[in-house]
Amino acid sequence: MSLSPVLVSGASGYLASWIISHLLDKGYTVHGTVRDLSDGAKVTHLHHMASRQRGTLRLFEADLLDRGSFTKAMKGCQAVIHTASPFFVRGVRNAEQQLIAPAREGTRNILESVNQTETVVRVILTSSVAAIMGDAKEAAALPSKTFDESIWNESSSPSHRPYSYAKTVAEQCAWEMANRQTRWKLIAINPGFVFGPSLATRMDSTSIRFMTDLAKGTFWIGLPDQYSSIVDVRDVSWLHVLAMETDQAEGRYIGVAGIRTFFEIGQLLKREIGGRYWWPTIKAPKWLATILGPFFGQSMKEIQNNVGYAYQFDHTKSQHLGLTYRPIEETLSDHIKQLIEDGLIPDKR
Ligand code: NAP
Repeated sequence: MSLSPVLVSGASGYLASWIISHLLDKGYTVHGTVRDLSDGAKVTHLHHMASRQRGTLRLFEADLLDRGSFTKAMKGCQAVIHTASPFFVRGVRNAEQQLIAPAREGTRNILESVNQTETVVRVILTSSVAAIMGDAKEAAALPSKTFDESIWNESSSPSHRPYSYAKTVAEQCAWEMANRQTRWKLIAINPGFVFGPSLATRMDSTSIRFMTDLAKGTFWIGLPDQYSSIVDVRDVSWLHVLAMETDQAEGRYIGVAGIRTFFEIGQLLKREIGGRYWWPTIKAPKWLATILGPFFGQSMKEIQNNVGYAYQFDHTKSQHLGLTYRPIEETLSDHIKQLIEDGLIPDKR
């Protein structure tokens, strides 16, 4: 099923740029929305991609909190891929204003435009595993400590893991709106922590900041035994395209290649890249993580409920859609090499 043109919201973002690259490769016409068309740092790479690839890219301005602002960009589109949403965990001062409203009201806003645009038949929403798993310790109650697509995050709130809460209420809002009509079909993609080479040189994505922090030695004192689900940006962006193009695609799709602790991520990079970087060398004990966590955007409760609890995500549904996951080693190594090669972190190999 080829659904062109496709609207991609948050076009300048880390994940959306890869989605657009896949679509342009396949010859699609893409209507990308950004907040500020004149911000060269955010859109130049998109223009370069469009000049080299088969499809056509048109950029429009739209803001999640500006009602109706996506309607113009959506005109004539058959599919919508909604990725735009603030993604950060550090420096949250007002969760409602900074995270929850843009995620939930932004989703409502864009789906109101979908309701008004008769040509749209399919909507792909970038949700997150954060809308599935609240705290890692909840895995103890699950068979094989494994989360699947039937599970919803019920423990996050505006004061505990507000980003996870924002993603949960945004996805719930999308399903409520989808279930009130029959013209367009909603599919949600629930990625783990996304890593892998970026198509842009902007540094404000949380995924990119985590890698640069690791290389800069921000975590030299140690990283805790806290598990994170990981997926390659090239794979999870492709999952969005598969979900859009496959007639039988239904419901939610976990996008997770595997699980590693933050400490293991540091060790893996130390092995793969080595050099004169301050890679973390010790596994920070829980008491130390509890003290230091707040400096890295994690509350004490978050550390208590997450450090030391192993879990898994069942990704078989995404494999049935045709996705093959790259090994995590390749993802992390390619990511740090891209940052070095683009001069975003110094080459000390
Ligand atoms: P990113 O690079 O920070 O991209 C976020 C995008 O959202 C940016 O394009 C940003 O626009 C846009 N945005 C934020 N607030 C907006 C607003 N008020 N109006 C319009 N656009 C707004 O992060 P990303 O990693 O690509 O994240 C993309 C999506 O994937 C998000 O929905 C995120 O929750 C989800 N996700 C990410 C990960 C991960 O590990 N990266 C994991 C699971 C899910 P500007 O360019 O103007 O700033």
